[in-house]
Amino acid sequence: MFQINDNYQKLPGSYLFSTIAKKVAAFSEANPDKSIIRLGIGDVTQPIAPAIIDAMHKAVDEMADVKTFRGYAPDLGYEFLRKAISDNDYKARGCDIEADEIFVSDGAKSDSGNIQEIFSQDNRIAVCDPVYPVYVDSNVMAGRTGTYDAATGMWSNVIYMPCTRENNFVPEFPKETPDMIYLCLPNNPTGTTITKARLQEWVDYANKVGAVIIYDGAYEAYISEDNVAHSIYECEGAKTCAIELKSFSKNAGFTGVRLGYTVVPKELKCGDVSLHGMWARRHGTKFNGAPYIIQRAGEAVYSDAGKAQLKEQIAYYMKNASTIKSGLQEAGFEVYGGVNAPYIWLKTPEQMTSWEFFDYLLEKANVVGTPGSGFGPSGEGYFRLTAFGSYENTVAALDRIKAL
Ligand SMILES: *Cc1c(COP(=O)(O)O)cnc(C)c1O
Repeated sequence: MFQINDNYQKLPGSYLFSTIAKKVAAFSEANPDKSIIRLGIGDVTQPIAPAIIDAMHKAVDEMADVKTFRGYAPDLGYEFLRKAISDNDYKARGCDIEADEIFVSDGAKSDSGNIQEIFSQDNRIAVCDPVYPVYVDSNVMAGRTGTYDAATGMWSNVIYMPCTRENNFVPEFPKETPDMIYLCLPNNPTGTTITKARLQEWVDYANKVGAVIIYDGAYEAYISEDNVAHSIYECEGAKTCAIELKSFSKNAGFTGVRLGYTVVPKELKCGDVSLHGMWARRHGTKFNGAPYIIQRAGEAVYSDAGKAQLKEQIAYYMKNASTIKSGLQEAGFEVYGGVNAPYIWLKTPEQMTSWEFFDYLLEKANVVGTPGSGFGPSGEGYFRLTAFGSYENTVAALDRIKAL
């Protein structure tokens, strides 16, 4: 009789988005005359920029001609895209990352879930709390997290680094020494980030204790402040301790077309073993390359026209972010984030729980957001609103909230 991977049985149900959907459906059925505005979405809404669409059309036509048709892409990505990434995301910022240290993929969710595979089962992971759920869940599936305590919402073998208003949402070095440290900066869900100087301290810490940092930079394009690093490799010594994950989803609207990449520097080693070689082996065995058409689209992200159009798109979302932030402040809320990320993280008023505030906002303002407790125990008492809606809806939602 076959056996299953029992670790999957340990996963608690992920009820966050299904519970939200059920509550919204029930409310809307009971109140058919009310128009609901959704500011809970973690997905982009603006169409893909014209320069990128042109590149995709051109690549589609190439696929129709025997002379330019392409079959399997190289496992690790086409040279044209890896070079564009290396030149624009790294060398232009003074980071010495070569094209052959970049592994093109179908997105940062898969990479952030898969990367744990090249590490020992015995490693202990550290995560921020609240956190993007993929980091913990993928380690649960691999059997690395111990047992789950439903009362606290915590795993026995995970090191949690609370990020709350008490520490300005800046993770502190944990008391116990981790082997793998997940950092997502700027952060989803809190919308906050840390300075480059503080990130340097994390790099120094990781090098000192012999930990690896898995650095998720999905929101890098939203950084507006000068003292924030756009890549962890801006920090000295990061090449011996950090893997960086990037995505084309949030900066270029690729959530539906799928493209991302992971940087594994050649200097990153465990003893004599190069992690670069291990990830190349893993990629070559389990992945057959991102589609040519999409990699051409990714290349266009770095064209002059693409850059100009994406700058406008980011500005559109960040105008929503500042509309939400200033509107909430006017209404008397305590608000965080929204400056270097498209997320606004608010403290619920009057000791309401995250879910009580969800119900209150849905019933009184007909606005949907995301309860902070869904991202981890330290998210309790907070609430996330996103800037990914339309400007008109964002303004209307804030008018309703201000009128409460
Ligand atoms: C949206 C998001 C990603 C991007 O995932 P893709 O698979 O590239 O769409 C990665 N990490 C975080 C924290 C995110 O919020």
